[in-house]
Amino acid sequence: MPLHPITVTATTTRTRRLHPLRRIARLICRTRGQTQQEPHGTEQTCRGSSFLHNFLPILEPFLLFDPKLLFVEDHILGRQQAPHSGTCFKVPSSLDELTRWIEDAIAPCDCDVCSPWLYQLSGNSSHGAINLRSSENLRRPRFYLPNRASHTPRPKLSLRVYGEYEAMRLVRHHVAWLDETYLQTSPSKDNLDVLQLRNLLHAWNAHLTGLDMRQTISKPQWLHLVSFFNKVFFFDAIPPHRQAISEGFSWLPDTEKSCFGIGTYNPIIGTQLLLHPTLFRHHGDPEDADVRWRSRLGTILHEMCHAFLKAYTCRSCPMHDYCVGPRGHGRAWQILASKIEQVATRLIGGFIDMGRYQSLLHDFEGHGRVPSGHDLEVLRFGTRWPDEQAGR
Ligand SMILES: [Zn+2]
Ligand SMILES: [Zn+2]
Ligand SMILES: [Zn+2]
Repeated sequence: MPLHPITVTATTTRTRRLHPLRRIARLICRTRGQTQQEPHGTEQTCRGSSFLHNFLPILEPFLLFDPKLLFVEDHILGRQQAPHSGTCFKVPSSLDELTRWIEDAIAPCDCDVCSPWLYQLSGNSSHGAINLRSSENLRRPRFYLPNRASHTPRPKLSLRVYGEYEAMRLVRHHVAWLDETYLQTSPSKDNLDVLQLRNLLHAWNAHLTGLDMRQTISKPQWLHLVSFFNKVFFFDAIPPHRQAISEGFSWLPDTEKSCFGIGTYNPIIGTQLLLHPTLFRHHGDPEDADVRWRSRLGTILHEMCHAFLKAYTCRSCPMHDYCVGPRGHGRAWQILASKIEQVATRLIGGFIDMGRYQSLLHDFEGHGRVPSGHDLEVLRFGTRWPDEQAGR
């Protein structure tokens, strides 16, 4: 999902001439109306995928280039209009103002910790527990190096066409794995994956801090770096791209002025990552190469979180849209990104900026929904991580 800076504008989109794809889409929408009359019920159950879900993998690549087609996806998934083309809500001007809005709202927290009944799926759902397997039993990749510190069993996720797991269940599991692997012990001294990642990041510092990365780092280099991030932060769970039809990594065009990156997964073409070659979050100091380095590392991790959720979460689950959402930075993404940010800050040293607060505002602009006080407390916006000063 794209990572956009915030704009507070009210826009409405109306298209009169129908593109051929939109005509097909209308047909799909009518078919959906005939096959799925029942709206999402109040009972927390997941019906799994419908026949129309088969169109999603084919449709998704077109959405990257023509967001107007999102209305087709809305209809297939049975959700309200994606907020990309709707009225934008006013966003708070500061964290303090957001805090005041939350206090005024006095709404109970509906996260999976405070309101677990909203997330308990009934029926014959396949959204069960995530298997653990010992690291010794893993299929060893090429050039395997033993990782002495990886005694934490690594999860085994099922990769299915429609996503196998309820979003919050997957995220809680992944957060627990990250906690156990990197935060409750001190593995970094012996963990070869972490050591190799650190060495690579420092060796490629100049490549990653170029004002125009197209001149300083190649696509294969980015993919090499992504494979290390995948190993360290996602136990290699993010699926690769399909080499026959995709490069897996691309630059966003110069004409894009607000999107830093895009990360997504599609069952046909695999994981796709796009980065803007020149944009980065500089926090008022565009000349600081260290800030640029941290922003770019944070952006690629940000996009990998999107791809991870897209690959493994079930979009038919009743709370999926609420937790992931059409813009992608809902509670599930925020909690996952928050833990990745904390772990990255510890392993790499110094703050790795994933743009979480800006992303919260970006989604807020779309749905106007104030997070809960509990969310704000857990997500720790504007609060330093314990290891933030290390390595700087
Ligand atoms: Zn994003
Ligand atoms: Zn809560
Ligand atoms: Zn489901």
